[in-house]
Formats: sequence, structure tokens, C-alpha cells
Amino acid sequence: MLTKRELKLLEKVTQIDAIPGIEHELAKFVKEELKKYGFTPVTDNLGSIFGVKKSKEKKAPRIMVAGHLDEVGFMVRDITEMGFIRVDARGGITPNTLLSSRVRLTLDDGTKVIGSVGATAPHYGGESDLKIENLDFDFGFISKEDALSNGVRVGQMIVVDGPFEVLNGGKRLLAKAFDNRYGVFMALEMARYFANIELPFDLYVGATVQEEVGLRGAKTISAVINPDLAIVLDCSPARDNISKSEEGHLGGGILIRYLDRSMIAFPELLTFQEECAEAVNVPYQYFSSPGGTDAGAFHLHATGVLALTHCICARSLHTSATVVDTSDIKNAKKVLIRMLKTLNRDKINKFKKARR
Ligand SMILES: [Zn+2]
Repeated sequence: MLTKRELKLLEKVTQIDAIPGIEHELAKFVKEELKKYGFTPVTDNLGSIFGVKKSKEKKAPRIMVAGHLDEVGFMVRDITEMGFIRVDARGGITPNTLLSSRVRLTLDDGTKVIGSVGATAPHYGGESDLKIENLDFDFGFISKEDALSNGVRVGQMIVVDGPFEVLNGGKRLLAKAFDNRYGVFMALEMARYFANIELPFDLYVGATVQEEVGLRGAKTISAVINPDLAIVLDCSPARDNISKSEEGHLGGGILIRYLDRSMIAFPELLTFQEECAEAVNVPYQYFSSPGGTDAGAFHLHATGVLALTHCICARSLHTSATVVDTSDIKNAKKVLIRMLKTLNRDKINKFKKARR
């Protein structure tokens, strides 16, 4: 079971809206939290936010623990004469998850406007051939002029509302954006845990921008931090609701993500991750994904960077009703703490030399 404090933080980070390119509201919250724990903010021109706690050791290696700030969502593309908003998706969203959902638009001054995604009444035969571009986002505006005079502009952010709920006495959680507020939460938990612990490396924790549209923020923040090792926190799509025999079970422990579209994992780092899980009695499961994570960008930075994913799985990923297992979150935290407590210059050098 997670503590009240942990649940409160998860609620806070899932309920802030941040789509690719419009992450500043969440970035601001993360920055303030990092400062609370004595971490010095590090950022770049795209807006990724990290905090660093420097080691007392000279020329210490740099370890980066990274979630991503953005969630999938929409941008205002057009306003119809009837006052409906038409959108473009930011990130992978299937249209059949959207009809009659409640949505939230953020105006330039930060005001939130509530609306719905229009659906055809059953009386008129329901829907066929759904396309996100054709959906009517209805915020109650009676005309185009009405929408414009209320401050609606092309490019503004819309997300599907997905309130935070504790399910089954705390065994599971439901909310929007666990991909990747799991990572944001975990990064902040590491800042909190290691705030007063001396480490043999510079610890960078935080989150990137624009992961969902192609690992863009990861590329630019790597140039600032230049890590020796990057540990990427993310939520991967569970498969236990598709087939019992497949990889990715809720409650099955951390994912040993050996392969995805963006990176072939470093076997020596996977072994290290497994050893750390075993040392703290945490279950793990092998996982491959047709998607990618920021590790795909980090490991290709400069002359190549050691990168490891530290993921859990979630059901209904990229919808407003994502379900995660709290024991997975707890276990992922235990293993991550163990890994960070075990890592040092010699270990990192050994991992690097395994490839040479
Ligand atoms: Zn993600």
C-alpha cells in the first residue's frame, strides 16, 4: 500500500495538464519540489526540468534519472462556425476511446474550460469511421465568434479529464496520464530520498519534454547533462487484459525491458537491474514493446550513453482511464533506490568497458 503522502503526490502530478510542447505548468511544480529537496535546477531551451545534487567526489560520474512531463492530448486546430473546436492529436490516441468524454481546454492565461467530445445520439445511428480530426469538441460556445471572444486560440492544449481514484482499498489506482506521471512521481521520490545522502556520483533527477512526439526533449537535455548513465522511468502498455500468456502483468513487478523500437537494451544493465530486484525481493518480468522510451534518445547521445529503462506496466495506456498497480509502484521504488545505492564509478566503468 502507498502512503497518504505518496497518493497525494500521485494525485497532484496526474491532475496537472501537460501535452507535448505545453508542459510548463507541470515543469514549474517539479522545479519547486526539486528545490525543496536542495537540488539545483537544470534546464534547456525546450523546457525539460532536472535538479542536480553534486557529489563531493572530484570529477564524479553523472547519473540521470528521467521521467517525461508530457501526456498525450490535443491542440486546437480550428473553430467551426457552430463554435465546435476541431483538434490535432499530440501523441498516439485511438479515436474510439474519446466519444462523449469530458475534456479540458487551457486558455493562454491558464483558465480551464470544460467541454465534451460530441457523439451522435443512438437515435441517429451512432458513429462510423471515426477520425480524431473530425470530432466536435464542444465547450458550449454558440458560434466561432463566441469561442474567439472567450479566448480560444489555435494551438491551445486540450486533455481528456481523468480524475484520480484509489481502487480496491488501495491495490490499484485509476487516473489520466500515469504515462508518465509515474516517472515524474518516481523522480521526485528519488530527490526526496537522496536529499541528505552523500553519493559517489552527481545525481540528476527530473523529467523531459516532448517524449510522446518522438523523444525530442531527451535529445536536448542530454547535451546539457551529458550523463554517464541514464535511467529512464516510464509506463509501458500492459498485456494482461489482452492475453494471459503475454508479458506485462499488473502486479507482476518491474519490467526488464529488453527490446523496443528505440533501443536494444544493454544486457549488463539488465543483469544489474535483476540483481538489485532480487536483493530487495521484488518480482520482475521480461517485456518488449513496439513503442519506445527516452532511453532511445539518451543512449544515442554524443558517443553513446549507458541507458536503462525502469518501467512498470499500466492498462488502458494513452487514455484518460489508466489503471496501475500500487505494489508495482512500491516495488519499482525499492529497486531504483537499491540501484542508486549500489552504483559508483567502478561499476559504471565496468558497464562501459563491457562494450569495448
Ligand atoms: Zn511514456
